[in-house]
Amino acid sequence: KERDPDLDEIQLRLKDVKNIIPILSGKGGVGKSTVTSQLAFYLASKGYQVGVLDLDVTGPSQPKMFNVEVMTVHETFLGWDPVYVNENIGVMSIGFVMQDRDSAVIWRGPRKSGLIKQFLKSVNWGEIDYLLIDTPPGTSDEHLSIIQYIGSLKIDGAILVSTPQEVSLMDVRREIGFCQKSGIDILGIVENMSYFVCPKCNFKSQIFKPTTGGVRSLCKEENLDFLGEIPIDISLRKACDKGVPYLTELINETKEKKGEEKKGEE
Ligand code: ADP
Repeated sequence: KERDPDLDEIQLRLKDVKNIIPILSGKGGVGKSTVTSQLAFYLASKGYQVGVLDLDVTGPSQPKMFNVEVMTVHETFLGWDPVYVNENIGVMSIGFVMQDRDSAVIWRGPRKSGLIKQFLKSVNWGEIDYLLIDTPPGTSDEHLSIIQYIGSLKIDGAILVSTPQEVSLMDVRREIGFCQKSGIDILGIVENMSYFVCPKCNFKSQIFKPTTGGVRSLCKEENLDFLGEIPIDISLRKACDKGVPYLTELINETKEKKGEEKKGEE
């Protein structure tokens, strides 16, 4: 069987990318895109060059999570330039080229795979430390395409995201199986929306009881690294909506609060 020449082009594109990390979740809405964007901000704050590739054809949210929604992609003789959020983060999203976001979900498999291939082939990342790939939820043909095009050996490891809810845990198990079958290392699982602390009375509400701590238990069972827990946090939600790092949002909120207190004193 002849080798697909596109695969060589993709390899060439990813030649100077040091680490390729897909972020996976069994279900939609559990925080996969949030983890992707905030991890990118964090790595960038440590001085790393980061690329974020949003291949979530079911609803690309990275343009919003980095506040670059209105950007369009520039094409040069070197390929498609990522949209730069700052000096350290370049973003490329299927959302940038999708005229009508709503139509993406009804595209047939081959068209989605074709688009994914086009993205991997065309984006000029240059020399970067990390390429974080936001993928569609679940395990679909798109995942197989991504793995097939990049090559499982080039992928350094996947980060899985799940809430402690039973349905999410069930689906993340499937994701673990998928990675194992495809020869993808799992760097670990992040538990998102672990609990909620009421900002008024400080009561810690275990919203997913009785499966509280479910991801930690799953990690133990499967001998995987538990990467930590993230509570439901209003400031994190705001940070995502504004497309800024969580820390920036916290600093802004503190400043706003101080401003209000000062006004109150006057
Ligand atoms: P996914 O990519 O898995 O579909 P998202 O990251 O888009 O999920 O998250 C869904 C929504 O929930 C987003 O609007 C996001 O801002 C919000 N969200 C995710 N995690 C948290 C959290 N820990 N606290 C508050 N809001 C969150």
